[in-house]
Amino acid sequence: MDLSNRQEKIIEIVKENGPITGEHIAQNLGLTRATLRPDLAILTMAGFLDARPRVGYFFTGKTGSELLTEKVKKFKVSEFQSIPIVVNESASVYDAISTMFLEDVGTLFVVDKNTCLTGVLSRKDLLRASIGNQDLTNIPVHIIMTRMPNITFCMKDDLLIDAANKLINKQIDGVPVVKETNAGNEIVGRITKTTITKAFVELIMDDHL
Ligand code: ADP
Repeated sequence: MDLSNRQEKIIEIVKENGPITGEHIAQNLGLTRATLRPDLAILTMAGFLDARPRVGYFFTGKTGSELLTEKVKKFKVSEFQSIPIVVNESASVYDAISTMFLEDVGTLFVVDKNTCLTGVLSRKDLLRASIGNQDLTNIPVHIIMTRMPNITFCMKDDLLIDAANKLINKQIDGVPVVKETNAGNEIVGRITKTTITKAFVELIMDDHL
């Protein structure tokens, strides 16, 4: 997060004199309390300063990168998940390949009639099934998919960093986001390598602090 000159000065004043009231910071800078209010709000929200009623502002001692790490560690799967692209388990490999092209995704999730997760299909799974002269319209995806209980998944309230670690540890491109229901694991979203890349870029570009 890029701080303005005034915000940098406020931090210095609070570091040296804290706890210090907003009024005193304003006096120190030759400004009014009202002028300073937005800066104090930003610095407090970003975690550089903390405020105690009737005591004043004090410096938290946290650097920009510490605050960034704290922020990233709080990201939830639900804030970043995208729509899952699914095929039914009775769909053919041919249909799955068509869906993958049409929907422009690298991983398909396979569901039963209750839209509960039963399998995963990656590009390589479909390529493998396509080698040889089989009639792909006659091979159902449930024959070639990776199936439960071997599927790595996450829940919407999980931390994004934990989902990202699953992608790395299992060397996979995506995980489904599921919700437990009586019928099984209903699929509600997906987290992929693209999700993580987007979160990373947004964080840097938007100065998310
Ligand atoms: P690709 O095969 O295109 O490199 P992946 O690395 O994601 O894509 O998939 C590698 C293997 O892991 C495939 O056999 C796939 O079915 C399986 N796989 C993919 N995602 C998952 C997951 N979330 N849980 C379990 N297995 C998965």
